[in-house]
Amino acid sequence: MVNLVLVGAPGAGKGTQAMKISQKYAIPHISTGDILRDNLERGTQLGLQAKEFMDRGELVPDIVLIGIIKDRLSEPDTATGFLLDGYPRTFPQAEALDDILGQITKELDVVIDIEVPDEVLVKRLAGRRMCRCGASYHVLFNPPEVDGKCDHCDGELYQRDDDTEEAVKTRLVAYYAQTHPLIDYYSTKGLLRTVNGTGSIDDIFREICAAIDRIL
Ligand code: ADP
Ligand code: ADP
Ligand code: ZN
Repeated sequence: MVNLVLVGAPGAGKGTQAMKISQKYAIPHISTGDILRDNLERGTQLGLQAKEFMDRGELVPDIVLIGIIKDRLSEPDTATGFLLDGYPRTFPQAEALDDILGQITKELDVVIDIEVPDEVLVKRLAGRRMCRCGASYHVLFNPPEVDGKCDHCDGELYQRDDDTEEAVKTRLVAYYAQTHPLIDYYSTKGLLRTVNGTGSIDDIFREICAAIDRIL
């Protein structure tokens, strides 16, 4: 049972590691990006609200995200722990998370920061291919077994609308301005573990598991 948050820039490998962590520790993988993309695809009110921000590479307003995470954390599958991927991304979101967890008498156990230099992030995002099941691949660094198909669910892979050069630039600016300061916030609380995100997917996973196992 572990309650954890993954932070890191766009392309750091959060989604890739989250799938593996969620499987190994049997905790739900809560990705706000996946939740928003699912709403976009289904054409919900929430999806329509979020679309223009996501396409530009800007953050969706805090009020929207706080609502999403409040609802999701109150579902029964979080009783055995949870993994947040892509939330919180701003101070108000981090403070809201503290409030929500207080209300449902839960606490964060660890915040894992995956560090990757910008030039590597840009290469990763340029070659990223996604599946609707949440799996993410790379044309060179992490190709699927069958070209264009997901290894997990056989779904058709696609390129995200916001993995364009223009939107990636905006997302990196948003990350350093709004999200990176949270690293100090969690460090002060004694929750932060920093992992070097430039090695192989398996090496990084081992390092993350070691960090989790130390607190279990
Ligand atoms: P990445 O893989 O680049 O880290 P995500 O899939 O997590 O991206 O998020 C994609 C987009 O969804 C973001 O650029 C942003 O527009 C929106 N989004 C996701 N999570 C949040 C959040 N916590 N706060 C605001 N916007 C968010
Ligand atoms: P995030 O969720 O942080 O935006 P992803 O998990 O989607 O990041 O990974 C971004 C891209 O980098 C994907 O194309 C993924 O296949 C690739 N990737 C993830 N981890 C590594 C790694 N350790 N080495 C090389 N490429 C990686
Ligand atoms: Zn899939």
